[in-house]
Amino acid sequence: MRKLLVGGNWKQNGTVKFAHDFSQNVLNKAKFDANKVEVVVSPSTLHLLTAKQALQNHIQVSAQNISQYKNGAYTGELSAEMLNDAGIHWTILGHSERRHVFGESDKVVGEKVKHALAHNLKVIACIGEKLDERESGKTQVVNERQLNAIRELVNDWSNVVIAYEPVWAIGTGKTASPEQAQEVHDQLRQWLKSNVSADAANATRILYGGSVTEKNADELIAKRDVDGFLVGGAALKEGFLDIIRAAN
Ligand code: 13P
Repeated sequence: MRKLLVGGNWKQNGTVKFAHDFSQNVLNKAKFDANKVEVVVSPSTLHLLTAKQALQNHIQVSAQNISQYKNGAYTGELSAEMLNDAGIHWTILGHSERRHVFGESDKVVGEKVKHALAHNLKVIACIGEKLDERESGKTQVVNERQLNAIRELVNDWSNVVIAYEPVWAIGTGKTASPEQAQEVHDQLRQWLKSNVSADAANATRILYGGSVTEKNADELIAKRDVDGFLVGGAALKEGFLDIIRAAN
């Protein structure tokens, strides 16, 4: 059985006070069976340590992005070494906002995943199609292109979690239906089986992200190949606890 994972991506939101108070007063109250579910929250870089220090150990912390380079002259970046030093074991990579707002290519995302894994980080690797790509029947082609760019550089997927986040569902209130999510997750698992290994297909968690709330979490998590969520807006509110509960 795959352990479920509920991730909260805070994106470019919050204050020092929010990171502290929300961690201490809300997230620490989350009740879940740690043998069945992992909870990983991802504040902005500035707020990572504030959250980590306020959180109890059963809730883990993740960066939202890292550089593909070692420490050095890379102004504005965050390195894998810095996360190692700070005791932070996760990073999100390839989020659609990194790809489509900041121009990260499939190749760069692949390099970042490779670099993060080489530094013993666990990676939530995000993929997903845009609305025009879905409407023109290219969902699978786009997802596989994004995954192939990772597979070319990565053999061992044991520290990779895939987050399927259709771009048209992010921040729009238009959640993929449970059937739409299951259809794509099943394709992704088949891709893992054919292109990585049967073991990777069985073991790799595939999260759904895109307008997940406490109202739709139950029906999404009921699907066989939905192994948890990457939550944006709803991860900044108390309702996040209900999303964790849905997975438990
Ligand atoms: P929303 O939940 O706000 O749609 O964002 C999803 C997301 O991008 C998580 O990474």
